[in-house]
Amino acid sequence: MYMADTPTHAGSRLLFEPGELDYDFGPGHPLHPSRLVALLDLLERSGLWRREDEHTRLPLRPATIEELSLVHRPDYIAAVQQLSIPEEAGVSQGEREERAAWALTYGLGEGDTPAVPGMHEVAARIAGGTLVALSAVMGLPEGGTFASEDERPRHVFHPAGGLHHAMAERASGFCVYNDSAVAIAHVLRSTEAKVLYVDFDAHHGDGVQRAFYDEPRVMTVSLHETGRYLFPGTGDVLEVGDGSGRGYAVNVPLEPFTEDDSYLEVLHALLPALAMSFAPDVIVSVHGCDTHAWDPLTHLHLSMRGIQAQLRVAHQLAHSYCQGRWVALGGGGYDLYRVVPRAWAILWAEMSEQPLPAHLPEEWIRRWRPAWLAVAEEEAGEEQAMGKAAARADFPTTFEDRAEDFPAQPRRWAISHTNRRTAAFVRQLLVPPPVRHAFPSTRHQSPMTGIFDLLHPRGSETPSRSKILETHKGPLLLRDFCPPSLVERLTAESGLHAFTRLPEREHQLLLTIAHSPDCALTLAHTPAGEIVGEVTLTFADDWWEGLEHVYEVTIEVSTTWRGLGIGRELLAFALELDTVEDMILFAMGLSWHWDIEGLGITPQRYRELIARLFASQGFVEHATTEPNISMEPANILLVRVGKRVDQHMTNQFFSRILSPSNLSRW
Ligand SMILES: [Zn+2]
Ligand SMILES: [Zn+2]
Repeated sequence: MYMADTPTHAGSRLLFEPGELDYDFGPGHPLHPSRLVALLDLLERSGLWRREDEHTRLPLRPATIEELSLVHRPDYIAAVQQLSIPEEAGVSQGEREERAAWALTYGLGEGDTPAVPGMHEVAARIAGGTLVALSAVMGLPEGGTFASEDERPRHVFHPAGGLHHAMAERASGFCVYNDSAVAIAHVLRSTEAKVLYVDFDAHHGDGVQRAFYDEPRVMTVSLHETGRYLFPGTGDVLEVGDGSGRGYAVNVPLEPFTEDDSYLEVLHALLPALAMSFAPDVIVSVHGCDTHAWDPLTHLHLSMRGIQAQLRVAHQLAHSYCQGRWVALGGGGYDLYRVVPRAWAILWAEMSEQPLPAHLPEEWIRRWRPAWLAVAEEEAGEEQAMGKAAARADFPTTFEDRAEDFPAQPRRWAISHTNRRTAAFVRQLLVPPPVRHAFPSTRHQSPMTGIFDLLHPRGSETPSRSKILETHKGPLLLRDFCPPSLVERLTAESGLHAFTRLPEREHQLLLTIAHSPDCALTLAHTPAGEIVGEVTLTFADDWWEGLEHVYEVTIEVSTTWRGLGIGRELLAFALELDTVEDMILFAMGLSWHWDIEGLGITPQRYRELIARLFASQGFVEHATTEPNISMEPANILLVRVGKRVDQHMTNQFFSRILSPSNLSRW
């Protein structure tokens, strides 16, 4: 079997195997393998990849039935195998109709995902490719053996992968076997690792989300065009996972005609914060480029700038949180020649740290422009129906898009506003408060004033306070307004991991918070410099936009220093300044924000502890219709209204949290 996977200076591989081109539903189907041929041709002609570099090949092979069964139901796999065999000559009309009806019960038939001969073999081969890719970056035997750890690839790009709609029991949306889900399931059974799956395709990553909906070791994040108008219709913000997987499905439905800037704002408001709180060991990302403005099947309106930003974020997060372990997959993309080859060449250049040439090679344009012209004719009608006027732009000559091909959308402001509300809701719902504080949203309510100036009106004397607290385990130092220089000298005690799962990360989190002018950090630490508790106080996040004088408080005490009254003393100390009486303070506890396993108690018990602790400082528990809080009995909202807050503000706040229209407000 011919294989090509090319090593580069950055230890990155591109997996491709000619057999993958058989994933072909025939002429006229929007997903056509010629886009991969055009991609590889572009990579070779641009000097970014050479198919003859085979000396460190990965052991590519089809996924076995047993591996496919990790995700797919046996009767479905059997059906796909059966339907892969070409129909015998001479079958009666009745038999043919019976077979077609049976195929349809498995999602295979006329329309999106036709049953075609050989589809089991090629779909299993693609699933095997992704499984080998992920095994290689995870150091599992299925990924091959390497002479040294240095030779093991850290990044792998498998452009034929990313068939994210396939379900356990049926084919869907051009997808037969769910390669990402099969590969991830293999990692789950072979290691203790946690996987962050990020789906940039314009369509909701429903199949992968469904496969791990109750699995806390897989966080699925999908940014997609809202399902209000687009297949598959799912991917609402409130789909957050089930059972112990609650809080690990993240959905960001974007408005039709979303452009780069709004997309990037949402991306940056969410992904780094989610990665920090989830603490993954590896990232699997799907780079469907049907988000591009020229794509004939969707209404998102990105240019290559937006697409490039996605993969940069994925790459950076892999290095920041996963020691570089990253598998990138293809996915959708139906402007086969103008968009897919460029988008994925940019991905490969980023992954392999190679500079892109200024222009697309002329020979490449000469070969593929006619192919585009041939399909452009018939697509023109459909594109107009989709409202995508820009699709009439000519064949590109550079990797980047030209600004003049992307005139501003008429509803730009409204679209950005809605997307910002969506991102704010997702943050509130799924990012633990201290992590939100470390990665603040774009705007807070008093942009001219930092939190320090608010708490210390002009003329007040000591800017930073400290106090010694005696405990049975020894003395602790309490300090407010801890500067980064202090946090740098301290370490996080081993029991401090409630929000990021690891003490080292908790320390990194506190350091980021200390750098933020919008967040006041109060610490309790031992004389030896170990942090055992922290309180943060900051402006309410974007979700509370429109309310004044509302601030959020969080607290954490090391599990090994519990039961000593430290929480109560620390909270009292942090909130002792007189200026706090001008504020409405709230604290939110959502069960999925806490490292429940690491804390060794149930969410209900943790909730009780928090309620009692905050009650000691005058906080009162409130019923609320905020969808995030009302979703789970262990969730809690605690509020303390300062003595000098006027009645109007107070009423506004309470009417917001009790508004029945909370769900539809945005
Ligand atoms: Zn798609
Ligand atoms: Zn890298």
